[in-house]
Amino acid sequence: MVNYSGLRKFFTLECLYHLSEPNAREADLRLRNKEPSLSQSVILTKHKSVRMAHIIWLRNDLRIIDHDIFHHLQDQPIIPLYIFDPREHASDAWGHSRLGKHRRRFLMEGLQALREELQSRGSDLCIRHGYPAEVIEQMHQHYTIEGIHVYGHDAYEERQQEEAVKKLGIPFHLYEADTLYHPADLPFPIEKMPFVFTDFRKKMEKQSEVRPFPPTPKQFVKPEIDLDWGDIPKVDYKIDSRSAFPFRGGTRAALDRLEHYFWETDQLAQYKNTRNGLLGTDYSSKFSPWLAQGAISARFIYHQVKKYESLRTKNQSTYWLIFELIWRDFFRFTAKSEGNRFFRIPREVKAMRIPAFELWKSGQTGEPFIDANMKELAATGFMSNRGRQNVGSYLVHQLNVPWYAGAAWFESQLIDYDVYSNWGNWTYVAGVGHDPRSRVFNISRQQSMYDPEGAYVEVWGK
Ligand SMILES: Cc1cc2nc3c(=O)[nH]c(=O)nc-3n(C[C@H](O)[C@H](O)[C@H](O)COP(=O)(O)OP(=O)(O)OC[C@H]3O[C@@H](n4cnc5c(N)ncnc54)[C@H](O)[C@@H]3O)c2cc1C
Repeated sequence: MVNYSGLRKFFTLECLYHLSEPNAREADLRLRNKEPSLSQSVILTKHKSVRMAHIIWLRNDLRIIDHDIFHHLQDQPIIPLYIFDPREHASDAWGHSRLGKHRRRFLMEGLQALREELQSRGSDLCIRHGYPAEVIEQMHQHYTIEGIHVYGHDAYEERQQEEAVKKLGIPFHLYEADTLYHPADLPFPIEKMPFVFTDFRKKMEKQSEVRPFPPTPKQFVKPEIDLDWGDIPKVDYKIDSRSAFPFRGGTRAALDRLEHYFWETDQLAQYKNTRNGLLGTDYSSKFSPWLAQGAISARFIYHQVKKYESLRTKNQSTYWLIFELIWRDFFRFTAKSEGNRFFRIPREVKAMRIPAFELWKSGQTGEPFIDANMKELAATGFMSNRGRQNVGSYLVHQLNVPWYAGAAWFESQLIDYDVYSNWGNWTYVAGVGHDPRSRVFNISRQQSMYDPEGAYVEVWGK
C-alpha cells in the first residue's frame, strides 16, 4: 500500500500530485517566465522606485464586471496577473492530469477574452508560469509592487499559495470570497454554519440580502514600466458537435449566453421544468463553467434574474435558478467553516488500478445510461446535473469504487470544475457529506424517467 496521505487537500502537495519541488522547477523552466534579462534588469532596477504598480492576482475571477478589486484600483497603476502554477496541471494520485484538455481549452479562452477586455480599457493581462510567491518576488525585484490584491479562497492549496505570497512582505490585500451572498452578510458566525442546505438557505433568504455590485471601470491605468506581458499558451481543440456546452470561455460568451437564455428565448421562465434534461444547450442555464472561471459572477446573474422578474415574469423557475446558486454558496461557506474536514478524504488511500474505475471513466461499464454520460464527459468536459448524480451513485454504490476517485476524475475533466461544488457534491452523492441520507439511484428507473425515448443514449452511447 502506498501512502497517498491526503489524496486531494491534505499534507504535502508534492506527495499528492507526484510533483517534487525539483520537478516542478523543471516544469517551470519549460514554461519559462519572461522577466527582463540580467542586463535589462540592471537598467530597470535603477529606476525601481518610480516603477510602482499594484498587482491584481487573478485566479478564478477572470472578469472585470462585478470585480471588487478592479473597481477599487481603477485609478491606480495595475498589473493584472495570472499565474500558471505547475501544481495545478500536475498529475493526481490516479495519474490524471488535473487540468485536462477541456478545462485547459476553456481557461485559455477565458484568459484571452480577459486580456482583450483589459486592452480595450488601456491595460493588459500579464501571464507568468511558476509558483506564485516566486513569480511575484521575481517581479518585485524589477518593479516596486505597492500591493498584492487577491480574492481569498477557502481550500487548502489556494490558501497555501496565499500564505507563501504573504511572506514576501509586500502589502497583501485579501478580498472576501466571490459568492452570491457576501461573507460579511452571513447572519451567523461561520463556526455556526448550518449543517444542512435547507437550514442555510432559509436563514440566508430571511436574514440576508444579495448586495448590489460596483460599476464596471471604463479605463485602467497601465504602469509605465517595460514589462513583457507574456503569451497565453495555444491549444488545439475541436468542440464536439453533440456538446451541450458548445461555448467559449470568457465574459463576452457568458453574457451572450445570459442574453440568449433570459432575454431572447425566455428559457429562464421554464427552468424548473427543464433543468433535469440531458440533451441540447437549453435545458439548464449552463452558467457553471463561466462561474467556475469567474468570467461572470453569481451576484451579476442574481441581479439579472431580478430584472427579468420585474420586466418579464416572476415564477417558480426564476426563483429556482437563485435557489441553485445558493447551493453553490452552501458548499463554499461550508468549506470556509470546516477547513480541510470539508474534503472528507481518508488519510490513507490504496493506490491501485481499479478495473471498474477505468471502465467507468471510459464509459464501458455495460450500463447504457451511465456509459452515455461518461462518454459525454470525456468528449466534451460537461455533463448534466442529472447525469452527474447517476454516474456518482453508480460508481460508489454499484461499483464500490471510492468516491474520491470519481471526484478526482471530475476535477480533471469538468470545464466547470469548482473545488467546493465538486468535492461537496461528491461527498453528498456518496452519503458522507452534509446530508448523510442514502442516495442510491435506481439507474434503470432514472433512465426511464429522464431518457424515456432513449434519445440521450442514442446520441452518446456509441
Ligand atoms: C458529483 C457532482 C459533481 C459536481 N461538480 C460540480 C463542479 O465541479 N462545479 C459546478 O459548478 N457544479 C458541480 N456540480 C453541480 C451541478 O451539477 C452543476 O453546477 C450544474 O450541472 C451546472 O450546469 P448549469 O450551469 O446548467 O446548472 P443550472 O441548473 O442552470 O444551475 C445554475 C447554477 O447553480 C449552481 N448549481 C446548480 N446545482 C448545483 C449544485 N448541486 N451544487 C452547487 N452548485 C449548483 C451552478 O453554479 C449552476 O451554474 C456537481 C454535481 C454533482 C452531482
